[in-house]
Amino acid sequence: MEYKLTAKMFAEALKENRLLGLKCNRCGAYTVPPKKVCLECASEDLEVVELSGWGQIQTFTVIQVPPEGFEAPYIVGMAELDEGPWLMGNIVGVDPDEATMDLIGKRVKLGHKIHPGDKFSAGEMVAVTFSPQT
Ligand SMILES: [Zn+2]
Repeated sequence: MEYKLTAKMFAEALKENRLLGLKCNRCGAYTVPPKKVCLECASEDLEVVELSGWGQIQTFTVIQVPPEGFEAPYIVGMAELDEGPWLMGNIVGVDPDEATMDLIGKRVKLGHKIHPGDKFSAGEMVAVTFSPQT
């Protein structure tokens, strides 16, 4: 068993605002974030590809009570990427206190944010961000 795209490779690319995913050679579907098998057909015949980093917000929530080490409020959302899969990320550039249903359907561009890590993690973490484009 071999992971074509590791969490480390995914994170290193994300630091350069590049989104790596997996394309299935059997059904053509894209899988992101990295998994062992295709999300659609469970095939292991996958290749690493770079996705556009563009998508559309499908749903979001405003976090008011954060986990330890995070500062609220902030917005977590899911975007449907242009290539198909849905990806979770922090929606940035929008005041969480002003977030309304108008966010749904907005075009977003992928970016990233470094989190210094906390007592539950092994060090810094790289998080996906989405910036709504007007
Ligand atoms: Zn597939």
